[in-house]
Amino acid sequence: MTPDFETQLRAVSLRVTRPRLAVLRALRDHPHVDTDTVIALVRAEQPTVSHQAVYDVLRALTDAGLVRRIQPAGATARYESRVGDNHHHVVCRSCGAIADVECAVGHAPCLTASDDRGFVVDEAEVVYWGTCPDCATERTVQRSASSEGSR
Ligand SMILES: [Zn+2]
Ligand SMILES: [Zn+2]
Ligand SMILES: [Zn+2]
Repeated sequence: MTPDFETQLRAVSLRVTRPRLAVLRALRDHPHVDTDTVIALVRAEQPTVSHQAVYDVLRALTDAGLVRRIQPAGATARYESRVGDNHHHVVCRSCGAIADVECAVGHAPCLTASDDRGFVVDEAEVVYWGTCPDCATERTVQRSASSEGSR
């Protein structure tokens, strides 16, 4: 199932350009990366593309809805090309790792406000915070190492 990026771009009336294709490819292969990482990935493929061009492409793709920008509290903005399924994210407090979590409902807003105060709610932003498996393992190792040392 390879998404056809050219078709996606044309569907939102954006011209098909090499930098736009490169950004979409980078985000498909590396979801939830920050701007600097996108720049590095694109320039590894197309060294002549400027930083500013990558910023512009990210903004155009985000505005067009082909790319989603997420920014967990205290983190730098990350980008992903998985859009339209209202999935959520789980974020590690220790290392900032981000993983996708399927939305149980699938469409926004998946949570009903106990009182919407008369607002028409179209989105509920759900972020699960915790400790990723790597960081959890590291803590267990450190704990057992220090208890051995005290013996
Ligand atoms: Zn972690
Ligand atoms: Zn995601
Ligand atoms: Zn949900």
